[in-house]
Amino acid sequence: MDSRYEVVIGLEVHTQLTTKTKIFCGCAKDFGQRPNSQTCPVCLGLPGALPVLNQQVVEDAIRTGLATNCRIAPRSIFARKNYFYPDLPKGYQISQFELPICEHGWLNIETEAGGPKKIGITRIHMEEDAGKLLHSDGSSSSVDLNRACTPLLEIVSEPDLRSADEAIAYLRQLHQIVVYLGVCDGNLEEGSFRCDANVSIRPRGQEAFGTRAELKNLNSFRFIKQAIEYEVTRQAELLDDGGTVVQETRLYDADSGTTRSMRGKEEAHDYRYFPDPDLVPLVVYPEWVEKVRQELPELPAARLERFVREYGIPRYDAEVLTAERAMADYYDECVRLHGNAKACSNWVMGEVTRALNERSLGITQSPVTPAMLAGMLGRIDDGTISGKIAKTVFDEMWKSGKEADVVIEEQGLRQVTDTGAIESIIDEIIAANMGQVEEYRGGKEKVFGFFVGQVMKASKGKANPAAVNELLKKKLAG
Ligand SMILES: [Zn+2]
Repeated sequence: MDSRYEVVIGLEVHTQLTTKTKIFCGCAKDFGQRPNSQTCPVCLGLPGALPVLNQQVVEDAIRTGLATNCRIAPRSIFARKNYFYPDLPKGYQISQFELPICEHGWLNIETEAGGPKKIGITRIHMEEDAGKLLHSDGSSSSVDLNRACTPLLEIVSEPDLRSADEAIAYLRQLHQIVVYLGVCDGNLEEGSFRCDANVSIRPRGQEAFGTRAELKNLNSFRFIKQAIEYEVTRQAELLDDGGTVVQETRLYDADSGTTRSMRGKEEAHDYRYFPDPDLVPLVVYPEWVEKVRQELPELPAARLERFVREYGIPRYDAEVLTAERAMADYYDECVRLHGNAKACSNWVMGEVTRALNERSLGITQSPVTPAMLAGMLGRIDDGTISGKIAKTVFDEMWKSGKEADVVIEEQGLRQVTDTGAIESIIDEIIAANMGQVEEYRGGKEKVFGFFVGQVMKASKGKANPAAVNELLKKKLAG
């Protein structure tokens, strides 16, 4: 893009909460159920049905607000956002408008240039989701209201993001936080974590924002990046040609990699917001906020710093290990049981991750538990097995679910440290390869590796490598 322009991005993220029931009724909200099987008079929008606020939704909002450095409002209001659409039987969506539950938050992101950048979070509010229209290929459409009235948190950022990469860094961090907190399952494909992006550009040095377009339908990090980049180029070309950007909502089409106009962008006043007379103002006592604060888990950024500081592992390793909470828990437990943080990170990031990836499993599905891995690492430390044989032991533990000690005994994988046994193998190898012995003695030192290989092979990998090296040197010297 033309560097004469500066990019300005603000993001609105909708996170669907993991509560068992909907926000204003007791209906279940499991994904993929038979259409309209999870409904009642409240979420069907039948006249006279009254909403009752789900306490867990409020607690999840407080938790998310605290984790993103927001101020939690002691008093907030639910409002009706009025519009017509067939998936919204009431004719309005219950949301929060003037007084949301969380405001004035921020997150630090790592930028390309390096170093942290503070991204403001304007507000987080609670609202209900709408239903879903199902379009069959022909002429008809049906409506499924299972999703109607499911709880959402809308997390609105300040227009502080200056590139698609910054937008992705912010989103990834936010995604990581809500999943760590357990308030959202983070599934982008199923729409549990959805993002709308407000994108505009302005000539560098200009204070006033340019006209923005709102991009919708962004359900993967890759698409979000592509959509923003396409949109920035489109707007720059428009301005270069002397045109103007129109304020509108645009849909991203993943197949063509382009955005197209969907409708003119509405302003807040188009919705005729007013306080919902069926719901009293929500009052949150400071004691509740304090209790939730006490119960917050260690957040990813803090955990990353602790891994670097306490365990002394490289920053990159700490990033990989804290990317997912369950992975970080697994690693923490390994270190607690075994003690050597570096050995644990090598194995968790190496063999454990490889085995999981090969089978497309998550860390919680690993048949090798932290205790089993720590047990095996202990057998390397005390010399029972070599680091090389440990990989065989690990694979067998994975397949059979047996402890390292059992596998080592059953398969006879104990390392041979008995020098007498190793010596007799070496003698045989030397006797069978006199030609190479001459070469070695003639100064061709590379042949040494050949002998190490032969001895290890003859011992089926069980000879202690240090002992093999030492004894070979002695014997070959003649
Ligand atoms: Zn219901």
